[in-house]
Amino acid sequence: MNTRANRAAVKPQALRMVFALRHDFSFDTAINERFFELGGNCPSSTSLMAANFLGYFSNDIGIDLGTANTLVYVKDKGIVLREPSVVALDTTTRKVRAVGEEAKRMLGRTPGNITAIRPMKDGVIADFDVTEAMLRYFIGKVNNNSFRVSPQVVIAIPSGITEVEKRAVQDSATHAGARKVITIPEPMAAAIGVGLPIDEPAANMIVDIGGGTTEIAIISLGGIVFSKSIRVAGDELDNAIISYMKRAYNLLIGERTAEEIKMRIGSAYPLDEELSMEVKGRDSVAGLPKTIHITSQEIREALNDTISAIVDAVRSALERCPPELSADLVDRGFVMAGGGSLIRGIDHLLSEKTGLPVIVAEDPLSAVANGTGAVLNDLKWLTSNL
Ligand code: ADP
Ligand code: MG
Repeated sequence: MNTRANRAAVKPQALRMVFALRHDFSFDTAINERFFELGGNCPSSTSLMAANFLGYFSNDIGIDLGTANTLVYVKDKGIVLREPSVVALDTTTRKVRAVGEEAKRMLGRTPGNITAIRPMKDGVIADFDVTEAMLRYFIGKVNNNSFRVSPQVVIAIPSGITEVEKRAVQDSATHAGARKVITIPEPMAAAIGVGLPIDEPAANMIVDIGGGTTEIAIISLGGIVFSKSIRVAGDELDNAIISYMKRAYNLLIGERTAEEIKMRIGSAYPLDEELSMEVKGRDSVAGLPKTIHITSQEIREALNDTISAIVDAVRSALERCPPELSADLVDRGFVMAGGGSLIRGIDHLLSEKTGLPVIVAEDPLSAVANGTGAVLNDLKWLTSNL
């Protein structure tokens, strides 16, 4: 099926969706409601009034706590921070040495006394303390110690997370200075962020390929009808490249190099013009640094099994979809988000394997954070839907 035709088929729908959302989550409405509640004879308690009053003065924030990247959205400002979800720790004192971009640069390059950790790596919290340190750092960074009142925080978390982990994230954000913490499943936030009309009684499907997990969800009437989270996503693609380089060339490369190869020449479908690049690493036999030349065809072959696992997960989600919603999807198709949706040709491949129109979100890496931002303007919607 022709991808361009697919895009054309889905686009008008997507535009309508964006309009619908802008309307639903308009900031003016939120303000007016607050005025009404402040000034009106609402029988609600003083604490409700106080909460609404505080809302005026705090910069409420939305956080996309991703397995690879954390993004922070400040109400009325948009996305103000995007950094890798990485923390570098001193192994003896357990003191945090660096967070975010600086810590990611240390991955694979740390001396014995420092370790760089990705606390959310597999979509579950590997280390609660480290996750809390990371959240505290990011909230502190956007806060800049200038919040007049502590903020309300909406956090998007992987849908595979347990209740205990969810509470741990909520506690961490509270310790980090949040007044109120609300969590939202990541695929729901992504669907809102890309502008799907999730409140309609119709199927809205999102496929979010992140670093550690691929989240697939079908949403109707503001609720998740079906969701599936698999631990196969960008990291697995990187690992497949590492294995391939070792197998085919005896070349040892690190995660950073593998990710760079994936981004520069990785693909899921044959390219009009195939690409190539030079890769540097260590020869596993001679033990010395070495440079080799690789092509996009061979990397596509290396990624094949991992990409097939993602395709299978999407197909099995479709098999579990109630028939009326399946019928909706024939015309509406699904939207892709997350950094993994940027692999060349993955939309084309998924469209071919499912027979559905597929569209990649305009800014797939920001979809979840934008979704948290949209619900910040309508927290009532969130509390009544989750
Ligand atoms: P998460 O939500 O899990 O934090 P993201 O949505 O931020 O994940 O996506 C991160 C993943 O996307 C990483 O595995 C990264 O390598 C991958 N990625 C980012 N940009 C591209 C690109 N242009 N091509 C292929 N993969 C990409
Ligand atoms: Mg994500």
